[in-house]
Amino acid sequence: MALAVSIPSNAVIGPNAVLQTEAALVEAGGRDLAERVFAQAGLSHLLTERPGEMIDEEIPKALFAALFESLPRDEALRIAHRAGELTGAYILHNRIPGAVRTLLKVLPARFAAPLLLSAIQKHAWTFAGSGMCTVRSGAPSRIEIENNPLAMPDCAWHVGVFEVLFGSLVSPKVRVGHDHGPKLAGAPCCFEIAY
Ligand SMILES: [Zn+2]
Repeated sequence: MALAVSIPSNAVIGPNAVLQTEAALVEAGGRDLAERVFAQAGLSHLLTERPGEMIDEEIPKALFAALFESLPRDEALRIAHRAGELTGAYILHNRIPGAVRTLLKVLPARFAAPLLLSAIQKHAWTFAGSGMCTVRSGAPSRIEIENNPLAMPDCAWHVGVFEVLFGSLVSPKVRVGHDHGPKLAGAPCCFEIAY
């Protein structure tokens, strides 16, 4: 089953892409590191005026670019992945109703996965912004984001988001793979979720 959903065209995304990147930076290297990376992105003001609502997707895009400019690749990947995990935990507790969480946890993975995929698609703006998110259930399940505004090496942030959501609600043995398909400009990000 494949479904496509249009995302609002004003290119906004959930604030957690920024808030949880701050948290992951502080965890990895203290406030100094967070200040250094936010300054590199020209976003120091967001450390005192934290965004509460949807934000322009150019903001986390600039922040992730600064992360990879400021730090060695391995460290940037680790921090981006951790920020994704923290975002996944936020979505888990704030965007998925408690009754749905309980249901998904008791259902066998093959039934829980399609339900989670459809919830993910409904809230795609949270993590995909203006990107076009398509989901397909099955073994493995797939999530595709066309024109992913937060694409980065290995798409470590999105992998972290999906690992937490599927790992908590579908199966603790989940594995999330990612590739950009054929190496063409603008190829969609494909996430494959095996459980
Ligand atoms: Zn990607």
